[in-house]
Amino acid sequence: MKTPSAQPSPLTLQERMRALIIFSTTIVLIVGIFGFWKIRQFHLHHLDIQTSSAKLQNNLQQNFTATRVLGNIRSNLQLYMQSADDGVLSIIRNDAQTLRNTLPTELHQELNHLQEIINILAIRMKSLQKNNGQIPQAEQAIADTMRQIITNFPGKLGQEIFPIASKARLAHQQIYVESIISGQIDPIKEGQLQIAKAIEEVDKKLGAITAHLPSAQQENIVAKLQDNFYWLDEASSTVAAIRLTTLETEIEIVTTLHKLKNAVAQDSLDRNKASFSLMENGMDMAQQNILFLVVGLLVLALLFIVISLIISKNLILPLVDFVALLRNLSRMMTGQREKSSADDSHLQHLSTFINKRRDEIGEVALAIKEMLTNMQSISFFRQTIEADESTEEIYKRLARIFTDKLDLKMFVIYEKLRGHESMEHVYCQPTELTGELPEFAMANSCRAKRTGAIVTSYDDQHICNIYPFPDCLDHYCVPMIVGGHVIGVVQFLFRKEMSAKEKSKASGRIAEAQNFIAETLPVLQSKHLAAEMEEMATKDQLTGLFNRRYLETSLDQMVAGIRRRGTTLGILMCDLDYFKQVNDSYGHDAGDAVLSQLASVLINAVRSSDLVIRFGGEEFLILLVDCDPGMSVSLAENIRKSVEDYKFQAVGQTIQKTTSIGIAEFPFTENQGIWEAIKFADVALYKAKDSGRNRVEVFDQTMWKEAAY
Ligand code: GH3
Ligand code: MG
Ligand code: MG
Repeated sequence: MKTPSAQPSPLTLQERMRALIIFSTTIVLIVGIFGFWKIRQFHLHHLDIQTSSAKLQNNLQQNFTATRVLGNIRSNLQLYMQSADDGVLSIIRNDAQTLRNTLPTELHQELNHLQEIINILAIRMKSLQKNNGQIPQAEQAIADTMRQIITNFPGKLGQEIFPIASKARLAHQQIYVESIISGQIDPIKEGQLQIAKAIEEVDKKLGAITAHLPSAQQENIVAKLQDNFYWLDEASSTVAAIRLTTLETEIEIVTTLHKLKNAVAQDSLDRNKASFSLMENGMDMAQQNILFLVVGLLVLALLFIVISLIISKNLILPLVDFVALLRNLSRMMTGQREKSSADDSHLQHLSTFINKRRDEIGEVALAIKEMLTNMQSISFFRQTIEADESTEEIYKRLARIFTDKLDLKMFVIYEKLRGHESMEHVYCQPTELTGELPEFAMANSCRAKRTGAIVTSYDDQHICNIYPFPDCLDHYCVPMIVGGHVIGVVQFLFRKEMSAKEKSKASGRIAEAQNFIAETLPVLQSKHLAAEMEEMATKDQLTGLFNRRYLETSLDQMVAGIRRRGTTLGILMCDLDYFKQVNDSYGHDAGDAVLSQLASVLINAVRSSDLVIRFGGEEFLILLVDCDPGMSVSLAENIRKSVEDYKFQAVGQTIQKTTSIGIAEFPFTENQGIWEAIKFADVALYKAKDSGRNRVEVFDQTMWKEAAY
């Protein structure tokens, strides 16, 4: 058995369950709100990730487009620089315009600059184209003047000038092609110098020749040739200069393109980084949220386990324990057997259980214990009264239950015996009331007896008109009903000035008392029946005298008393003389009537302590207890005389009879048995009959003809 180790909780199950509900609801609410918040965050981060991913895709797309367009511009620029084709220029311009849609706004200034320098480049290229035309014209002029030299400078002079001019022209052409058309700044600058030098040299040479020329016409032609070379030099210089500026512009454009490309790459990288970091952040948060959700679920699962454990500890285990206890108690109650130590242990277990639990289960256990205790005490009460010998004892015990256990201090128990008209009080508490109690010569004058229902002054002050204490006491009369017959009434009495609380307590106690009364009823009934049976078995129905059976059962006790006291028992055997004649003359009923009246004559003739027994037929045995010597003879004589004088009334006739009586005294000898003494009386009776009847004979040894008894 478990011992009450922990101090019992002062909280009831209802309070504990309420606390548990509040606690778990709070936790669920917290986890729910937290979970909702986390799911919402999860959703927001998911959106973030989606947006970042879209941005990333967009960035990559823009970056790709920008890089592709920048590359196109770069290659078209080269093409344009070589071809100066307006179609290519318009493609470059379109591409630059396309960039506006793909480049981030912070790069738009740079883009504006690009577009500006593309415009400058276009202008310079136009100028270059225009000036480029001067060179063939100058060359054509040089060729024309050279032809004039061939025509106008015959001989040696012509041969001298022509190679100089041809050489300079070729040198110019070579340098021009190699340097200026090469499109490299330094060679252009170098070529410019070389062209200038070559032209200066030719000018110098032509100048030297001019000084020796014979005619003015020839001088004019050489001067014209010189001018044309100057024109060529100027045109070359202009083209070279423009070429240099276009180159510078191209470099600026390329640098700008490069810058833009880098900026686009950097911007894309930055934006991608931002998107990635947003995505990473989103992923982290999502991970965190999932972690929180898992923790939340774990908390809920833990809460569920805790609640299950609490319910199990507080409700299920105690209930299982309690059910097992109840089963044991039920077995104990249903087993119709003696109380055992196991029963005590079950009850002890129940008490421990009640002490341990101050909650509703404890209350149920307490109620069950009270019920069991009541049932036990009722059962014990019943067992006890069953073993009681008389109804008086039963009433006494019932009275003790009323006073000691139920605190009912005033009551009267009335008993109505079968075959009797009256009803008598058999117990009264307090005894002082006895003198005040009404006599029920007719039991039915008691309302409770008559109606078989509870009769109480609480319903109606004057319900019972023979109630003796209407002014000071209230009554509550409970009929005792067995098999539809009222065998008595228990009347409880209460002070009139009782408070409502006391009255309600009292009614509870009456209800309990009724349980005890109900237990006594079958026992009382069986006691009454047993008494009746006993009486029927030991009494003669016709005369009401004890019969021979009674004699057999009571004789030993009587003899023991006689021996103990050392007194004498007078034995008188009486027999009516010629009784047969009564039957013969008046009939059997008349004989019965005579026998019945004779019994009264005999009873009246002896002391109340003496015993008259119908020994058989018309033979009566009279035992005179503790009689003095000679007393049996005088009593026998008295009886004989009484019978002789008595006028029996039967069937309208007066009959007179006599009786013969044989007397023996016990103990006649020291070790004489009682039955021997009775036999002696019988012998003496025969002697009386033989001696003429209507006489008394005392036994003496001479009458005994037998060898031994
Ligand atoms: P004696 O003087 O010798 O005793 O003569 P008696 O006629 O009285 O004796 P006997 O033994 O011959 O007769 C007894 C009679 O008593 C026989 C029986 O019918 C009658 N008797 C016995 N018991 C009863 C009884 O209960 N009622 C009636 N009416 N008669 C009974
Ligand atoms: Mg006889
Ligand atoms: Mg007779």
